[in-house]
Amino acid sequence: MVDKNDKQKVVTELPKLDLALINQVYFGMQGCACGCRGNYHETLRMKKVAVAKLAKRASDGLQIITGLAEDKSILSWEGEDRAIRIYTQQDLMGD
Ligand SMILES: [Zn+2]
Repeated sequence: MVDKNDKQKVVTELPKLDLALINQVYFGMQGCACGCRGNYHETLRMKKVAVAKLAKRASDGLQIITGLAEDKSILSWEGEDRAIRIYTQQDLMGD
């Protein structure tokens, strides 16, 4: 999924997120993006849960990945074996 046109950076503060632009959120294990090791959610309630969890974990460092086809940006917290990811139409890369 990641190719040479993608851009990535790490931030330690939660970017300003527009809930209305979030496509889906992911909670689960790392290693496969198909959903077999975790769950994707599209409800507002779970989007808010993901935002709150990433806000708490922002000081660990959050990855921003852009340049993907369907989602403008992915904001991702990667734990030792778990990940929480927000897929959004927002451009989180900024300048
Ligand atoms: Zn899988």
